[in-house]
Amino acid sequence: MEDINTDQPPREVRWERMFPHQLEAAFAECPALYLAYGLCEPHGPHCSLGLDALKAHAILVALARRHGGIVAPPDYWHVHEIGRFAIWGVKHVGEGKPWLTALPPWMHFKNVCYHIRMAEVLEFRAAILLTGHYGPNWTDLKTLIDLIQPFVKVRLFGLPEFEANQPGFPGDGADGDHAGKVETSLLWALEPDCVDMRMLPEGEEYPVFGMGRDAQESSLAAGQQMVADIVRWLAAKQRELLAAYDPGAPSGLRTFDDVEAFWAGEVVPRLPRFKSLRGSWTQADGPPPASRWYENWLPKTYRA
Ligand SMILES: [Zn+2]
Repeated sequence: MEDINTDQPPREVRWERMFPHQLEAAFAECPALYLAYGLCEPHGPHCSLGLDALKAHAILVALARRHGGIVAPPDYWHVHEIGRFAIWGVKHVGEGKPWLTALPPWMHFKNVCYHIRMAEVLEFRAAILLTGHYGPNWTDLKTLIDLIQPFVKVRLFGLPEFEANQPGFPGDGADGDHAGKVETSLLWALEPDCVDMRMLPEGEEYPVFGMGRDAQESSLAAGQQMVADIVRWLAAKQRELLAAYDPGAPSGLRTFDDVEAFWAGEVVPRLPRFKSLRGSWTQADGPPPASRWYENWLPKTYRA
């Protein structure tokens, strides 16, 4: 996804690789911050484990290069093993070593609060939080942002990238999948070194390390088209957020103590209703006790 028709390397927009003068210039041009979330989890034998964050980060880099803004260091630790994630693991991964970088929801979402605090203190006017990892966590991200917005000036929007993937995979409409044709095509377009279609298994053979059943239908061209569509959607959202910025709005999330008070007062009482923590806890379809997915599927912490 490099810029074409120029001998210049694409401009640097990744915070961790920028010099201070570059950050100041990028901020002066467009005070928008982009945050990418994902984790290492099984994505078939043909995709790198970090697909979710690789995908989200590379999309945001493409967005910043074309439309301004700064991309925060990606967060490769995300919600897994709990509730519906464990049930998914039994079905789609099996009992092999899953190579996860998993956190419980309360750790992940508290980290997100601290990320937003930093955006506020650095005086960004807009922040887009993009999760490449799904399951019920993306609805919780929206819930958290609804809770935190009244406390900060920076205008926030959180989404899974499939929300911006319109019209989506040709013929299929906008939708996410899991290491199927949508995610594989996106990663192929964004990080070609991280997809190896020769690794796809031949014939029917499931579960195969979280692979989607239609992965064989992946295409580089479809991935490039979806990336262009997603970037266009996010650019419009960025402009909308910047226009909504109100310098007179309250700014109550500036210190570590502010975050801890917000977390304890506003989030913890609502955590038992976060979908990532609710999962299928009322169903009898949890992992069998002998499964590696059993021990964290039903934690007592913050349980309703
Ligand atoms: Zn994924």
